Amino acid sequence: MATPTVENVVIIGSGPAGYTAAIYAARANLKPFMFEGFQAGGLPGGQLMTTTEVENFPGFPDGITGPELMSNMKAQAVRWGAELVTEDVTFADFSQRPFVIRSEEREVHAHSVIIATGATAKRLGLPSEHDYWSKGISACAICDGATPIFRNSDLAVVGGGDSAAEEAVYLTKYGSHVHLLVRGDKMRASKAMQDRVLRNPKVTVHWNTSPKDVYGENGLLSGLKLHNNKTGELSDLPVKGLFYAIGHKPNTGLFRDQIDLDDVGYIVTHNDVETSVVGVYAAGDVQDHEYRQAISAAGTGCMAALLAERYLSANDLLQEFHQTEASEKSDKDSGHKSEYQETAEFDISRTRHLGGYALRKIYHESDRLIMVKYASPTCGPCHTLKPMLEKVVNEFEGKIHYIEIDIEQDPDIAESASITGTPTVQFFKDKAMVGQMIGVKQKSEYRKMIEEHAGMAVAQ
Ligand SMILES: Cc1cc2nc3c(=O)[nH]c(=O)nc-3n(C[C@H](O)[C@H](O)[C@H](O)COP(=O)(O)OP(=O)(O)OC[C@H]3O[C@@H](n4cnc5c(N)ncnc54)[C@H](O)[C@@H]3O)c2cc1C
Repeated sequence: MATPTVENVVIIGSGPAGYTAAIYAARANLKPFMFEGFQAGGLPGGQLMTTTEVENFPGFPDGITGPELMSNMKAQAVRWGAELVTEDVTFADFSQRPFVIRSEEREVHAHSVIIATGATAKRLGLPSEHDYWSKGISACAICDGATPIFRNSDLAVVGGGDSAAEEAVYLTKYGSHVHLLVRGDKMRASKAMQDRVLRNPKVTVHWNTSPKDVYGENGLLSGLKLHNNKTGELSDLPVKGLFYAIGHKPNTGLFRDQIDLDDVGYIVTHNDVETSVVGVYAAGDVQDHEYRQAISAAGTGCMAALLAERYLSANDLLQEFHQTEASEKSDKDSGHKSEYQETAEFDISRTRHLGGYALRKIYHESDRLIMVKYASPTCGPCHTLKPMLEKVVNEFEGKIHYIEIDIEQDPDIAESASITGTPTVQFFKDKAMVGQMIGVKQKSEYRKMIEEHAGMAVAQ
């Protein structure tokens, strides 16, 4: 564990609230230290990493995708000197000063803290949910909707709010028909979203209906057992996908005995963002059960950073860090840019490749370990994984092949690789699959898998 340092301000969480706080604190020369999160309460980048178009964030008249908006916010925070680590905070102590914040990798001491841990998608807890999780059940239609198992199949979405309505309409791009299961006789979604659902011929709304359990064939989901909440009637609905959109719970478990929370678990704030502990602020969905919007989260992130600066200054705790021109760096994706499919320019000696053509050639012709990442363009976790894998691949330059497959452009490849969700990373050696990792894992886990299986190739 690294030696503790005392930071001006530690920000926990990297949604719109966290990144905005980081931008303001960095611009005030506070050099904020941010725990972006990893998997404890959603994704680095927050909830917008799981959506497609954001049409109401000011400044983007044509809309912007959630992952792109978040990657812009991150780049802006980094440009002004914020220090970011993709780690979950596992412990916080606000009873001593400086405050103590810990992840698995480090302990940090801070004069002020901004909590921006947002909220997490809820699960239903069905009896067989665990058996079919990622094998038909998903909490992220935007991430997983494009995977081959859902194409041209009947799908179901459970929920009655904006997310459920948005996901039902989105899934009609891939599924043959979408069943929206609403537990009561009306939806909570905005009128505009309800109209989009009710007008869509590919969506059927089942009122007063809840899933009781799921079942499957050959390890994949094949249907739902439904309960009519009015008549008590039970029925079967054959579907290959079930998408949860049943709301969120604030990510405040860590702070339960440290600061005041309300009955539901939201952080209680005064003056918009002040918590019950002086010097600790809360911004975004973690303290807001009223608006829950990216712009309101960003707004409270700004307030928290400005109040933290005032607090540090008033108490003579502020240590200024000045940026040089050269250090104003942009974190915009530095990954290689090229046409998706390589054909004429294909060069087997290279480490990095794109597309099915390269995969087929390398699979048959190379004796290096092959790492294949399957992603889809709208999948937020895929955006998170990309820079992490880039760093790992850099360490094994010339020793492995790293191939990126876009499952929308290469659906056949995804199907033959039995991809059920993105991101998925598969490892091949000597024409056999030697490992598979679904979702976003720690960099060390990819490294370990490569070291284990590239051993022979490295030694040659
Ligand atoms: C499908 C969907 C579509 C949406 N569309 C829109 C829209 O079009 N317009 C709009 O304005 N809003 C939209 N929203 C709402 C918007 O996404 C949220 O209001 C906003 O993201 C809240 O921002 P936040 O920063 O408070 O938290 P979040 O975005 O929830 O981010 C929380 C962050 O905290 C991190 N975290 C959690 N626990 C820990 C921990 N222990 N340690 C470290 N980090 C941690 C997470 O990794 C994450 O980075 C949508 C939401 C969803 C789910």
